[in-house]
Order: sequence, then C-alpha cells, then structure tokens
Amino acid sequence: MQEILDAIQSDASGEDIANLAIPESYRAAHVLREEQAMWDGYESADKDPRETLHVDEVATPELAPDEVYLAVMASSINFNTVWTSIFEPLPTFAFLDRLGKESVWGKRHALDYHVVGSDASGVVVKVGSAVRNWKPGDRVTVHCNHVDDQDHSAHNDSMQAANQRIWGFETNFGGLADLSIVKANQLMPKPTHLSWEESAVNALCASTSYRMLVGDNAARMKQGDNVFIWGATGGIGAYATQLVLNGGGTPVGVVSSPERAELLNAMGCEFVVDRKAEGYRFWSDEHTQDEREWRRLGKQVRGMLGDDPDIVFEHPGRSTMGASVFITKRGGKIVTCAATSGYMIEYDNRHLWMKLKSIISSHFANYQEAWEMNRLLGTGAIVPVMSDVFALDHVGDAALKVHRNEAEGKLGVLCLAPEEGLGITDRAKRESVGEDRINLFRRMAASKA
Ligand code: NAP
Repeated sequence: MQEILDAIQSDASGEDIANLAIPESYRAAHVLREEQAMWDGYESADKDPRETLHVDEVATPELAPDEVYLAVMASSINFNTVWTSIFEPLPTFAFLDRLGKESVWGKRHALDYHVVGSDASGVVVKVGSAVRNWKPGDRVTVHCNHVDDQDHSAHNDSMQAANQRIWGFETNFGGLADLSIVKANQLMPKPTHLSWEESAVNALCASTSYRMLVGDNAARMKQGDNVFIWGATGGIGAYATQLVLNGGGTPVGVVSSPERAELLNAMGCEFVVDRKAEGYRFWSDEHTQDEREWRRLGKQVRGMLGDDPDIVFEHPGRSTMGASVFITKRGGKIVTCAATSGYMIEYDNRHLWMKLKSIISSHFANYQEAWEMNRLLGTGAIVPVMSDVFALDHVGDAALKVHRNEAEGKLGVLCLAPEEGLGITDRAKRESVGEDRINLFRRMAASKA
C-alpha cells in the first residue's frame, strides 16, 4: 500500500496510479465469525468493541466489473460499526452469508471475517471493466447504499430495491481499511476544501438526515417548519440541525449536557432541551410509560416555539417514541430511522390517529439524495461535524466512545492518510466557508478535554 500512498501524495497522474500493483492483502478492521457468540448473555453496555474489532491484514478480493478498488485515506465510525462489534441485534455474518448465495460476485463476501465501515474518502486506484464515469486518480467520497442496479426494483427509489444493503455493514470489504471495493454507483466527488478525514465523516449520517427531512421520500420539511431533533449534536442529529436551519425551519434540539447545549447554540440553534438537566423519565419502570412526562416535554417545547413541532426527528426508539408521538403537532410527522434504545416500540395510538399524525420510516438515502447532500457539503452550505480523529489501529477506542455516547457529532478515522489535515486542494474555498465553521465540533471537544 505504501507505493499507492506515495503516488497519491506526490499527485501522480491517473495513468500512473492505474499501473500500480494492487497488493494481495491489506490492513482492515474486522470482526471474526468465531467470536460472534462471545457476549451472549452480557448487557449491551458491558460489551467492549475494543475486544472484537481486530485490525490486521486480510486478503484482497477480486474486483467485479462494476466496482473500483479504492485507496481509503480516511473513514469514520458509524453506529452500525458499534452494532456489528457487539453482535447486536444480530451478528452481521448472516447478512454476508445471504449475499454469498446471491451471485458469483456476492460469494466473495461470505467469509469468516467481516471488514466493517460504511464511510470513506479516498482515491480510485483501479476500475472494473464496466465502470464508465470514474477513473484512477479520482478523489472521491463513498455513500453506503449498495444495490444491484440490474434489478428492476432498484429503479424508482433505490432504497426500495429488493437487494438493497448497507456497504460495510450488510456487505464485506467496508471502509475502515486501507483498501476497499466499492460499486461505481457509490462514488461521489470529494469536497475540495475539506481534508480526507473531514470528507470521510459525512456521507452516511448526513445523507440519512437529508432523506429524513429534505428529500422526496420522508418528512419533506417546508420553510417555517418547527422540527424537534433528538440527539441534536449526535451523528445524524447534527446534520439534521444544519438542514433545518438551512431550510428555513426552526430546530428544537435535545442534548444531555450543558456542553452539548452550548455546541447547539454555537451552531445557531436557539431552542435547546437538556434532557438530563430536565430529568425527563418517560418510563416509570421497564413496562410503564409516564404520560405526565410526555405532557411536561410538550409544554416545554410549546413554551419555546409557541406551537407544537411539525416534525419530530426520531431515532432513540423505545425510550422516546411515546413522547415523540405525543408532542408532534396535529397533522404532523414523526420520521424515524433507528431505535438505539430498543426496537420494540410503544406509543399511545390515540394520540396518533385522533390528531392525524403520521409515523414515517426512513433508511439511509438513494444515490441521488446522497449526491445532493454531498453537493451541499461541497458548497460549504453544510459542514462536517467531526469532533475527534483516531488512527485505524485505535478504531476500537473510537467505537467504544460512540457506544458509550461520549462523542459529539462524528469521529474520523485515518486509514492511509498518515496525518490529519491532508487532501485539501481548494484553500480559497475553505477560507470562504470559514475555518471556524468547519472546526466547530473539534474546537468544542478540545475545550472540553
Ligand atoms: P450518535 O452519534 O451516538 O448520536 C445519537 C444521539 O442520540 C446521542 O448523541 C444522544 O444525544 C441521543 N440519545 C442516545 N440515546 C438516547 C436516549 N435513550 N434517549 C434520548 N436520546 C438519546 O448516533 P447517530 O450516528 O446519530 O445514530 C443514531 C441512531 O441512528 C443509531 O441507532 C444508528 O444506528 C441509527 N442510524 C440509522 C441510519 C439509517 O440509515 N437507518 C443511519 C444513521 C444512523 P444526547 O445524549 O446528547 O441527548
């Protein structure tokens, strides 16, 4: 890989890069099939990703005609890597085995190790024979929607494709590695004013929030909408907050510490609920919700907005869904993409139907939605929310921070990039977007440390 890195760093031509040999093995973060039952019976909180995320050499897979080999300069931690590393709700090897049965190329994925990671920035090194729009030397970011575009079901909204998968979670050969294989229809141009790691942290979370709020397929926020955002400084929440502000809406962001409240204010979000300081307890015990707490939250939010939220951006799941359905405005929308605290959801259906509210499901984003989000990152309208950077060898430490809800925004991971801050090719644009905006999460995290 050193030869490939040297070529990238010396700005070698695409032709020279194309002529480089692809190594037979590469360094990658992966979990092992033989360990998938090691935590049976443990509480989630006691499962430590540092014990299951191994960083070692793995064999380089053969390239399919519609794929590229990507030299991964940087990647990021997403919650799905936490799920994979703690083998919850299911070990991901079942996904790989299913993909393995689908086609000759799918068979490559069903291995006894799973290379994880669903974000990447890097350089295209080689392209398969069917790749038309990308070439060696292209600097790209990667979105994680993995679809077979020869299936008819992929051609309205590709998130509806029968065999839609999340790359690096439901497929092997993900982005937390020095090399990856990526379908050509996952590639997007890297924002020129951002470093490798700043470019790598966005695609999964930002595109998810874009589809939930802005795209045609979920809540379709309008100018002036009030949007209530759980985890508003978290991975998806921090992009949601920016999208609401950019789109002429008013966000109410929920956080769990004064530092996070300050961060939200610094992003321009005026209305903040510190759920910890307020002591909200929506469940009085494991089986019983406390409707008085829903009412208390509704009153607090109405006190801020003078109205109820048009949209609730929901992902904590079991712990908050009852409250989310309750506080949403008559006719409003609860848009959900996850269930971090538990997926067996309970809410009072009377509050939904009598007030004509809708619960809308959303999952990642199709290529067009991801592309539109990437464009907003490229113009600087949306900025990365990266609070820290880790070396690939310390990927377990980074995943543990996310597992423990100790990180704001996103954590970047350096793969081939030997240090932070590399890969910026348009300094003037960076200046016009503003170093202060780009580094907000980093500065806030540093001042907290
Ligand atoms: P994250 O960076 O850990 O942020 C989540 C935020 O949610 C935390 O910062 C926390 O904020 C808040 N939170 C956590 N538990 C909570 C609870 N019980 N009640 C209220 N708030 C809680 O994670 P993320 O990257 O934003 O992802 C969030 C979830 O979405 C994960 O489950 C992830 O797997 C899922 N996801 C799904 C998709 C998809 O395509 N379907 C895409 C991305 C992520 P405070 O403590 O500050 O309130």
